[in-house]
Amino acid sequence: MTDQPEAVREIRINPILPSESVLVSTARGMRPRKNEELAPRDSRKHVNRCPFCTGNEHMTPPTVASSPSEENWSVRVVENLYPVLGDDSKSSNLVFGLQQAIDGYGRHEVIVDHPEHGIAIQDMSEDHLFRLTGVYRDRIRELYKADERIQYVLVFKNFGPAAGASIPHTHSQVIAMPVVPENVYNEVTHSRKYFEKTRQCIFCSLIDEALTFEATIYDRESGAVRRQFNVGQYVIERGEHFVAIKPFASRYEWEIHILPLLHRSDFVDISDEERHDLARVLKHSMTRLDAVIGGAQYNFFLHSIPHNNEFSHCNDSYHWHLEICPRTSIPTGFELGSGLFVSTISPEQAAEQLRAVELE
Ligand SMILES: [Zn+2]
Ligand SMILES: [Zn+2]
Ligand SMILES: [Zn+2]
Repeated sequence: MTDQPEAVREIRINPILPSESVLVSTARGMRPRKNEELAPRDSRKHVNRCPFCTGNEHMTPPTVASSPSEENWSVRVVENLYPVLGDDSKSSNLVFGLQQAIDGYGRHEVIVDHPEHGIAIQDMSEDHLFRLTGVYRDRIRELYKADERIQYVLVFKNFGPAAGASIPHTHSQVIAMPVVPENVYNEVTHSRKYFEKTRQCIFCSLIDEALTFEATIYDRESGAVRRQFNVGQYVIERGEHFVAIKPFASRYEWEIHILPLLHRSDFVDISDEERHDLARVLKHSMTRLDAVIGGAQYNFFLHSIPHNNEFSHCNDSYHWHLEICPRTSIPTGFELGSGLFVSTISPEQAAEQLRAVELE
């Protein structure tokens, strides 16, 4: 099956979010003008007027945190100049989901990921990524601790103009919100339902399948092999504590999820040893992605168990993960109109190409 990729045309249901499905159609025509020219990203090392470049610290709002020190920082956290949420409870209401107005209370911070202006994740050292994920953990912990009204702290990154990054200097963002965002809410509640039926975490089950599962589909009449599945082909990178997987039903053609191999619900509990391995798996995954799609522009975000009492019983059913969603095409009218994501490369073929990249 790997020599000659078969044409695939099927609708795949996301096992974790059944409402989210993807049409895998490797036949041409679903997206005739795929890979439209995306604006190139800014890869300069230092930009004199960039507020996030070293020497321009006075141009940003005050520093919230920095690592290793304020004078000699490698990672720096500042308040967002244009916060989506403010710490003034009288600020304007926000709309999350269907006509659900909530108080716009919250915090919005920017993490300057690296002193070098246009550096990509795969070009940062593992030590640096270890430090950066440590800052993610510390900010999440701090923001939950600072205010009990905070229901969820979302860490995410937009990289490149195609992913909506408004400031070219490499950065991540942290938003502490007074509600649990719908995506996380749905993941936590659906995985809980699965757990109640099976007493198993659905993410752990998917990892087990990805590492071991094989299946053959036979033709009912002739008995000939119609199709062979080797789910192990979804694994892109395997570390000691983490695995990077190409999901069976991916919304984005080159989407990758990184999950801890052992069951862990809360990112803030990550150990230093695990964080070293996460740095390596993240760097390798991004190197593969960048090599295959040539200059990856993407969004990534951390999904972890919300710190509110409503979900305290979900620690054994929810499994934290990092979702990486590369932007390689612009959604078509079909996708916007149907809500069905279209993938013109099958996840199996995408995984194979990603795995084939030679790492130094
Ligand atoms: Zn800069
Ligand atoms: Zn699990
Ligand atoms: Zn998720």
